[in-house]
Amino acid sequence: MTAQRIDGKQLADELICKVRDRISARIAAGKRAPGLAVVLLGDDPASAVYVNSKRKRCEEAGVVSFSYDLPASTSQAELLTLIDELNANPDVDGILVQLPLPEHLDSDLVIDHINPHKDVDGFHPYNFGRLAQRRPLLRPCTPRGIMTLLESTGVELAGLDAVVIGASNIVGRPMALELLMARCTVTICHSKTKDLAGKVAAADIVVAGVGIPNFVKGEWVKSGAIVIDVGINRLDTGKLVGDVEFDTANKQAGWITPVPGGVGPMTVATLLENTLDAAEQRESDAIQP
Ligand code: NAD
Repeated sequence: MTAQRIDGKQLADELICKVRDRISARIAAGKRAPGLAVVLLGDDPASAVYVNSKRKRCEEAGVVSFSYDLPASTSQAELLTLIDELNANPDVDGILVQLPLPEHLDSDLVIDHINPHKDVDGFHPYNFGRLAQRRPLLRPCTPRGIMTLLESTGVELAGLDAVVIGASNIVGRPMALELLMARCTVTICHSKTKDLAGKVAAADIVVAGVGIPNFVKGEWVKSGAIVIDVGINRLDTGKLVGDVEFDTANKQAGWITPVPGGVGPMTVATLLENTLDAAEQRESDAIQP
């Protein structure tokens, strides 16, 4: 037996279509298309690949993309001034600053400076706090996208035991909050966790966001579990692999995401969903622009 594949590429295409239809309806109603400002500093090749794919997907969804490609030498003050301008620009609904930033810049300060109602990455402490309080506004893209992947299985999530491996601010922690909101019983594992294999073996859902190729062994996975692989690791051979040993996990799991073609495409599609949500939230009475 092999696991059922959760096809992130196809689900992301479907989500982009839904976003495009919602935007067409807005335009037919005389409203404007949502706008996303994407800020890229320096010439890190991996960041450039992510940013290009975000800009391309914007076009497909009908989101207006504003591009800011700045030199790596950009100062903190210059970057904060740009963010002030974007915060004040009524045509910009979402602001994304591609991480990691060059070392001389303080990414916490930069994130804190973004208007939380335009924080389509969902990294601002305001949005993080809202998620922790079970009244989310803009939710971090990767974990929100993973919830869409999990929902696509049709499996009832409430009451399941979930293990999240990795506790970063962008993946592990918000993922745990999303799963808790879906009423899973959540265990968060990190580099000091004892008996990781035992914890994975007891889990109905495993989400791996570690950044180490083939770190989660297939033999650890409980029969029938849902396995979500967030890792994107490039081997010396050039091949992209996840954090989960796919071939062996595929024989144990009930559902599994591939790498590539799993979480990655869904993260980008969710960014556009967040941009549209941000536009609509700012238009609603709930939020003062
Ligand atoms: P990070 O380095 O910030 O965090 C890694 C986490 O793994 C840390 O919490 C650390 O404690 C934990 N960890 C490290 N060694 C461990 C060990 N031996 N046992 C248990 N836990 C351990 O990384 P990140 O930014 O959260 O990214 C993680 C991975 O996810 C990377 O491969 C990254 O490329 C990928 N990623 C993918 C997407 C996507 O859209 N698919 C989005 C973001 C990140």
